[in-house]
Amino acid sequence: MNDFDYIIVGAGSAGCVLANRLSASGKDRVLLLEAGGSDRSPLIQVPLGYGLTFSDPKYNWMYTTEPDAALNDRTSFWPRGKVLGGSSSLNAMVYMRGQEGDFNDWRDAGNTGWGWDDVLPYFKKSEDHVWGASTHHGANGEMRVSDFADQVHPLCGRFIEAGKRLGYGYTPDFNGERKEGFGLWQMTIRNGFRESTSNAFLRPAMQRSNLKVITHALVSKVILKDRKATGVECTVGGHTQIFECRKEVILSGGAINSPQLLQLSGIGDTQALRDKGVAVVHHLPHVGQGLQDHLCVSYFFKSKVPTLNNTLGPWYGKVWAGMRYMFNRRGPLGMSVNQAGAFVRSRPDLERPNLHLYFNPISYTANTAPVGKRFQLQNPDRFAAFLISFNTCRPTSRGSVMIASNNPLDKPRIETHFLTTEHDRQDIMDGSRMVRSIAATSPLSDIVESEHLPGIQAQSDADIFADFAKRAGSVYHASCTCAMGTDPATSVVDDRLRVHGVQNLRVIDASVFPAVTSGNTNAPTIMVAEKGADMLLQDNA
Ligand SMILES: Cc1cc2nc3c(=O)[nH]c(=O)nc-3n(C[C@H](O)[C@H](O)[C@H](O)COP(=O)(O)OP(=O)(O)OC[C@H]3O[C@@H](n4cnc5c(N)ncnc54)[C@H](O)[C@@H]3O)c2cc1C
Repeated sequence: MNDFDYIIVGAGSAGCVLANRLSASGKDRVLLLEAGGSDRSPLIQVPLGYGLTFSDPKYNWMYTTEPDAALNDRTSFWPRGKVLGGSSSLNAMVYMRGQEGDFNDWRDAGNTGWGWDDVLPYFKKSEDHVWGASTHHGANGEMRVSDFADQVHPLCGRFIEAGKRLGYGYTPDFNGERKEGFGLWQMTIRNGFRESTSNAFLRPAMQRSNLKVITHALVSKVILKDRKATGVECTVGGHTQIFECRKEVILSGGAINSPQLLQLSGIGDTQALRDKGVAVVHHLPHVGQGLQDHLCVSYFFKSKVPTLNNTLGPWYGKVWAGMRYMFNRRGPLGMSVNQAGAFVRSRPDLERPNLHLYFNPISYTANTAPVGKRFQLQNPDRFAAFLISFNTCRPTSRGSVMIASNNPLDKPRIETHFLTTEHDRQDIMDGSRMVRSIAATSPLSDIVESEHLPGIQAQSDADIFADFAKRAGSVYHASCTCAMGTDPATSVVDDRLRVHGVQNLRVIDASVFPAVTSGNTNAPTIMVAEKGADMLLQDNA
């Protein structure tokens, strides 16, 4: 099969959904090009394997950001999936849609059809939720969303109870009616295996004769004739090839690579592209601008009772966990270490939660090592400890992604510009106080031996900022670099995800978010792909 209707670049969270939906009728011929390789590895399929793929270049683009003044001029390590399934093959599997207001904000910014009531059916469409169908959940979709209440570490209960005693309430379903409060995360895991979009959406569709998937295929640019996309240039096995399509090219390379590809193709800011030796096809200054992410810091607490450190640290604990997983697919290897958390309002005047808190019954002090060293996610601390982390839900600081040269093999420059607004700085102070008040509340406080990091000596605002600058890092929710909007001066795609001013070219992935959602970004990316697929099929009918 060599003639195609659609070409999708990138088999990640969005690309795998698109490949499934666009090939479903059998009428269209679909080509999916992925720079990475197969996901058939236990490191990917066993849920806790992400501790190892986190810094494995075989599956990972391994990006490094530029030094950021707000982080003591530190660079940050940004893993991104380079494998079938993309980042859904190496993420922490938390299933979180975000707040209703996130999408209503998208709609109110002029993006028709993206309000909460518009997007909820698309969230439900993908879902095969373990609790079955309801007002809030779907049960006929491809992607299993599971509940681990019977398996999470007992300390999660103490965390939730402390939150309740502080007056925040218990939330049985963060993707249900009430998205505020303390509770347990749901996870994209099926029968003890990672439910990446590759497993859920792509693998079943690969049986179809009208879908062709090529791995180790690095797309280097979009072919444009008179500002109309007709195909892509791609390197496969060391050979450059041109693939053409009749209908549309869809970029699903993620928030770093989609803007990079547009820029390499001559779509971006005229002067910036010329400076890099790229022939300009279409001036679209916002390409790569508007980058958002969640910047998080972890507070480490030594525990009087065993935590997952005691289970997964010693060799005999690892063996036990491995045996347990092999026999019944249960236990710590079969789920995420991100097990519980909260969404809270740190001030009573706020309309919606502004803080996202994470409770992990495990700790890795090594993870605070200077960036650039390999992270030691597979080796927990040798003492019993847990961590509580937080980030602001809706940061207002914005960064950028810009090609470093016209060579597609050169990594783009990622400028984060974190904490450039008073809003973001205020939320850090609130988050720090919140974490400490939770740890100081029974029944969690009953088992806290001491605050290990940053340590109780860090009390003043200046101390807290200094600690944040020293230790904060990304939770890998990069988005918004090809943002949806009405004005081509301040956005990249319209509300049908078409690149402004260019025909037959769409971006469909986390880069089109107008603003980052309040929680984790995998589920909203999948929703964007579901909705984008419908738009493609409607507009090309
Ligand atoms: C370590 C980590 C943990 C995370 N944890 C969570 C979590 O627990 N819950 C959650 O909701 N979210 C989480 N996220 C975020 C979430 O996984 C991402 O937001 C989401 O996967 C983004 O989807 P995407 O389709 O935009 O991009 P991706 O899934 O990254 O897909 C992009 C794909 O395009 C391919 N590609 C890129 N450029 C090219 C090219 N030029 N040619 C060919 N192919 C190309 C890439 O190799 C990749 O496969 C995490 C992310 C990471 C990295």
